[in-house]
Amino acid sequence: MKRRPAQVKCRTAEQIKLMREAGRLVALVHAHMREAIKPGVTTAELDTLAESVIRKNGAIPSFKGYYGFPASICASINDELVHGIPRPDRVLQEGDIVSIDTGTIYKGWQGDGAWSYPVGQISDAAQRLLDVTKDALYKGIAAVEANKPMMQVSAAIQQYVENHGLAVVREYTGHGIGREMHEPPEILHYVNMAHADSYLVLQPGMTFAIEPMVNMGTWRTRVLADGWTVVTADGALSAHFEHTLLVTENGADILTRL
Ligand code: MG
Repeated sequence: MKRRPAQVKCRTAEQIKLMREAGRLVALVHAHMREAIKPGVTTAELDTLAESVIRKNGAIPSFKGYYGFPASICASINDELVHGIPRPDRVLQEGDIVSIDTGTIYKGWQGDGAWSYPVGQISDAAQRLLDVTKDALYKGIAAVEANKPMMQVSAAIQQYVENHGLAVVREYTGHGIGREMHEPPEILHYVNMAHADSYLVLQPGMTFAIEPMVNMGTWRTRVLADGWTVVTADGALSAHFEHTLLVTENGADILTRL
């Protein structure tokens, strides 16, 4: 029997105010990352900076301690998609791309956002991967429409990515977000008619994160022996962009911005 789409709560104006502040702080962390990322910087230094920005602004880094994750950001380099653990011996090199994912909790409400950055000069192919992945996120955001099924967001992202000859990851999805970082529904970045949440009808007041990860080779992934770091199965480059959004009568309002 077919599962029904997830039950999804809509947020009150007061809750949205708090989520907007959590989202603003996610964007503030990214503004600091953009300045700090350069050849020679370690991912542990980026983590220290992110945590201090979050705490100085009266919020809590949601990633730290989440299922035992040890840091306030995920820092994933080149063929790493997501969940890379910041380390003092991971030094950014000219030509790398690094994906930074971070989350905040402000007065009990969550924000979540990821961005991939070039380190110094990068190849044209790597730059194109970043551009297509970021644009795919915004195609998904543009497809958010009240009273329409979630799958039109999935379709917009998949179509855009595949039209550019790239592959969108299946195993990791966007998600509802509110008091918890990960709540129902699952937001797929590819069309899967067998997934009940594909039929979820978007309603004003819903809050969720869209976060396509796009690979230059296969969409398949594997997890390294550290139990966290997800890499592409074929070692090709991967990029990741994410915003937390509010569904409105007129589409989507991006909460993770300054
Ligand atoms: Mg997320």
